[in-house]
This record gives sequence, structure tokens and C-alpha cells, in this order.
Amino acid sequence: DRIIAADATSEDAAAEAHIRPRTLDQYLGQQAVREQLRIYIDAAKQRGEALDHVLIFGPPGLGKTTLSHVIANELGVNLRQTSGPVIEKAGDLAALLTNLQPHDVLFIDEIHRMQPVVEEVLYPAMEDYQIDIMIGEGPAARSIKLDLPPFTLVGATTRAGLLTAPLRDRFGIVQRLEFYTVDELTRIVRRSAQILEIPCEPEGAGEIARRARGTPRIANRLLRRVRDYAQVKGDGVITRAIADAAMAMLKVDPEGFDQLDRRMLTMIIESFDGGPVGIESLAAALSEERGTLEDVIEPYLIQQGYLIRTARGRMASAKAYRHLGLVPRARESG
Ligand code: ADP
Repeated sequence: DRIIAADATSEDAAAEAHIRPRTLDQYLGQQAVREQLRIYIDAAKQRGEALDHVLIFGPPGLGKTTLSHVIANELGVNLRQTSGPVIEKAGDLAALLTNLQPHDVLFIDEIHRMQPVVEEVLYPAMEDYQIDIMIGEGPAARSIKLDLPPFTLVGATTRAGLLTAPLRDRFGIVQRLEFYTVDELTRIVRRSAQILEIPCEPEGAGEIARRARGTPRIANRLLRRVRDYAQVKGDGVITRAIADAAMAMLKVDPEGFDQLDRRMLTMIIESFDGGPVGIESLAAALSEERGTLEDVIEPYLIQQGYLIRTARGRMASAKAYRHLGLVPRARESG
């Protein structure tokens, strides 16, 4: 289990029920996204219409689910939540859609993992608030049109490129979440600490923020583990020194890398001569799934400039060599 995994664990879900932001004002960072949504939401409310469909994309743990709840809350409507792989049949989606109240939000997480037959039901639903459903079987089967209440679909995906073009084109509002800055994460850690009544000095929060890989979910998880450490090894207060010592115990280095990150970079450097190496070969060498490398590990390494994605594969940058205490090759980073 990776302490810095960006995916949610069941422990996260329980622990975060209280600290999840509920309004746009509580949703920290992502300033451009917040400013735009504020306008779209206010405009839709003034017109008394459903908000346009919203596509949110970004790596795991950056706040896609949270934002969908915030949108519903700001609109003053209900939110129904499901996810692409969970909807098995077209009828399951039809049942969800026909149960919506006017202007409700339907949130579909991992929307890129929907079955094609299910996805086709969404097209007319999104476009005309209508669905076609088949009644009966065999020669007696016929299709009937059903009107839906106007609703807002909020779809979330880790990468926009995973969506089919017809689906992507039906979203009026497309928002991309970025990794958070250390400043923003410090504010998030301090807010969470306050809600959870954890005494936390600003420098302690900063130390946690620096190692959270730009990801609020990881920041909140590290906060909980550092709190345990502070309680047992200190006097309960999260200071810089306590945060530092706790992170050393968790084997999370000052850049927020754990063994898996270091293993990936070391593998590229030592087994593949610094790269470029194809993602499939790398996944096989690390015994990891390609999707895990692409969605969970490499986005942060790329954004931070440790890993370079080229047409011929992944390469370790000079920064990666230095971080691992190695000497960069002469022709590194190209
Ligand atoms: P995703 O759906 O993108 O995987 P989540 O919406 O589940 O991510 O966010 C993970 C956790 O991070 C949430 O439970 C919430 O507590 C916290 N979080 C996410 N975005 C923010 C934000 N902008 N401000 C404060 N906390 C946030």
C-alpha cells in the first residue's frame, strides 16, 4: 500500500467525509476553474435553467468528485453519483436518468470506462433530454422515446484523451484540474487540521504540503499519519521536525517520492540507459500495470520535470539523475 497513492482508499473515504469542501469558497486553489464555474452557475440559476454539462479531467485525488458535489450544492440541487464501469446495461443508465428531478446533477466518475451501448444512451439524453428505450423482445420489440427532466451531467476522467469524440463534444463546459502548488496545499492541510482539531504549526503544514505531490488527497492522508506520529512520539503538535521525522519513517522523500517513484526512475536510468523506453517495457520491468504508470505515477514526475515523455518513450531528465545522486549522462534530456 502506497502512502502517497493518489487513488482513494476506504480509510480516505471515511476520514474525508468531514473535510470535503462543500462550497466554491471552501474549494481551495484551482482559481481559474472556480472563477469560471462561479459565472456559469450563477448564470444558469438566474435563467432558471439546468447548468450545461461539465467535463472535469485531471489526475486522481485533485478534487473531481469534490467539485461535482460543490457544483450540485451551489446550484441547490440533488446529486446522483455513479461511475462508468458500474453501469452494466443501457437500462441501468435509463433508470438513473428517468429518476432525476429537474436541474439535478448526475455525476459519472471514470466516464471513459462506460460500455459503448451505455454511452449511446447518453448522447440524446445530453443533447435533447430524451432517451430511446426498447420495450419487449423479438418481433414485438419496439422503441419508445422518453422525455427527461433538464439535468446536468458532470463527467470525470483522468485524461480527456480517453473519451470518444462524440461524448467529449457534448460537454459545454470542460475544466482541467492542475496539480496544486505547495502554498495551496499548505492552506488545504491547515484547513483540514483545523476541522479535525489537530494542532499544526504553519511550518509543519508546509512540510506535509511539499511532499504531497500536488494532490489534496495525499496531503490529507499524510496529515493523518503525521498526526499519529506527533501524538505518540511528540506532544501532539505537528511541528516541522515532527513532520520531517514522520515522513522519514514513511519513506516519503523531500520531493514526495516513495520507493515506487525512485524504482521507476532508477529502472529507466540503470536498465534502459536513461531511456527512451516504451511504456509497455517499463511496466513489464516494474511488474506494474501500464495504466498505473500512466495515471498515477508519471503525471507528477513529468510535471515536476523528472521524467520526459517523447515519441519513442520515457526518458529520465538530468534532474532525475541528480535527485537519485547519480551523474547525468552527456546527452541527457535532449
Ligand atoms: P478525485 O475525485 O479527483 O479523485 P476527490 O474529489 O475525491 O478527488 O478529492 C480528494 C480529497 O481531497 C477530498 O476528499 C477533499 O477532502 C480533498 N480536496 C480535493 N480538492 C480540494 C480543494 N480544492 N480544496 C480542499 N480540499 C480538496
